[in-house]
Amino acid sequence: MADLLALSSHIIDNNDTDIHPNRVINELSEIRDDLAIVESFSHSVVLDTGDGLVAFDTSTGSNGRAVVEQIAAWRSSPVTHLMYTHGHADHVGGSREFAAVWNNPVVVGHENVAARFDRYAYTNDWNVEINARQFGGVNPANNLALSPDELDDDDAVATTQPRRWNSYIPKGTLRPTIEVDRHHSMTIGGTTIEAHHAIGETDDHLWFWLPASRTIMAGDFLIWMFPNAGNPQKVQRYPREWAAALRTMAAMEPELFVPAHGLPITGADRIARVLDDVASALEHLVDTVVAMMNGGATLDAIIHEVDLPADTLAKPYLRPLYDEPEFVVRNIWRLYGGWWDGAASRLKPSPDAQLAACIAEMAGGIGPIVARARAAAEADDMRLACHLADIAAWAAPSDADVHTMRAEIYMARRRTEPSLMAKGIFAAAARESSVAAGNT
Ligand SMILES: [Zn+2]
Repeated sequence: MADLLALSSHIIDNNDTDIHPNRVINELSEIRDDLAIVESFSHSVVLDTGDGLVAFDTSTGSNGRAVVEQIAAWRSSPVTHLMYTHGHADHVGGSREFAAVWNNPVVVGHENVAARFDRYAYTNDWNVEINARQFGGVNPANNLALSPDELDDDDAVATTQPRRWNSYIPKGTLRPTIEVDRHHSMTIGGTTIEAHHAIGETDDHLWFWLPASRTIMAGDFLIWMFPNAGNPQKVQRYPREWAAALRTMAAMEPELFVPAHGLPITGADRIARVLDDVASALEHLVDTVVAMMNGGATLDAIIHEVDLPADTLAKPYLRPLYDEPEFVVRNIWRLYGGWWDGAASRLKPSPDAQLAACIAEMAGGIGPIVARARAAAEADDMRLACHLADIAAWAAPSDADVHTMRAEIYMARRRTEPSLMAKGIFAAAARESSVAAGNT
C-alpha cells in the first residue's frame, strides 16, 4: 500500500511536478481505517460503513474486474451501494463487474445520468470515434492512452491507429436506482453521506460530503490537471459553475478531499489552497472572456489575448496536460455567445476545398503553399504551418507529397503541444495524411 496522503502533501507543499499524481495501477491503498482508494482510471473510493461497503465510482469497463478484486481482498463485506459522481464511462463502466460479484447494489446518481446514457447510445459511433482520437495520440506510459501499450516510442504511438471501444458505455452498465435532483442524504451503517449536485465538467455531477469525518468525494471537480472545462470534441462544460462548486466545497472546511483522479488531499489549509487556486484560474478565464465579449471583441481577439500566468499553470494540480486554457476560452464563448466566431465570411462559408483551390490558383500552384508551410514550421510558427498544410491538402487532396508534408507538420505540432487533447487531434491529422500519402 502506498501512503497517498504523504505523497500528495509532499507534491503540493514542494510544488513537485516530477511525481505523476495520476496513477492507473489498479492497486488499493488505505487512507483511513475505514477508507481506501483503488487507483485506476477513474479511481474507486471505498468506504467501510460497518454495515457493508460503499464505492464511489467504478473505473472503466476494462479496469472494473481488477478494481473489484482489490476491494474483495480488502474486506469480506459486500459492496451494498455504488455512488456515481457522474455518468462518464471511466466512472460507471466498471459497475457491471460490481454487480457480478455483489448482488444488486443500490446505485445513487444524479437524475441526468440516465439521459446521458441515452445520449451516448444515440451518438455511440461519434463517441467511439472522438475518444479514439482524444486518447490515441499519447504514450501509454502517461496512463491515459488508448494506444497499443507494447509501443514505447512516442512517435510510433502517435502514428499507430488507436484501439477502439465497440460501445462507449459498456453493455450491462448499471443505471441509478436512486436519482438525485439537488441534494440527497442517506445514513448507511451509522455513516451519513450527503450528495450535492453541481455542474462543471458535466450536467450530472454529484459530490459527496461525509459530515462526521469532514470528508469530500469530489469526482472530477479536481483532476490534478487543468480542469476539463474546454474539451474541443465534447458537449458544453460550465467553468463558472465549476469554480462556484469548488468554493462551496471549500466553505464546508473539509479535512480530507478525495478526487476521482489524482491523489487525495489532507489538511484543511492545504485543501483550501488547492481549491482556491483551481477556482481562481477558472474565474479569471470566465471573467476576462466575458468582459471582452461585453466590449464587443471577436473570438479571434479573445483566444489570442486571454491566458493564465505561467506560475499558475506550473502548479502540480493545474498543468495543462489534459485540457488547456485556450479550449476553456472557446467553451466560455460557446456558452454565453453562440457558435459564430464573429468573422462575417465564416457565417456561411465556401467549402474549404473551393477556398483552398482559389488560394492555390492565386499562389501559382500548390508548390509555393507547401514551401511556405515548411518555412513556417522551420520558424516554429506551427499555427501558421498547420493552416497552410490544410489549405494545400484541401486544394490537392490526392497529392501524396502534399500529404507527406502535412503528416510531418502535424507530427511536429503534436510534439510541441502539452495537452492530451491537442496531441490527440494533431496525431489523428498526421495519421489521416499518412494514409492519404500511402505511407502506412
Ligand atoms: Zn473522470
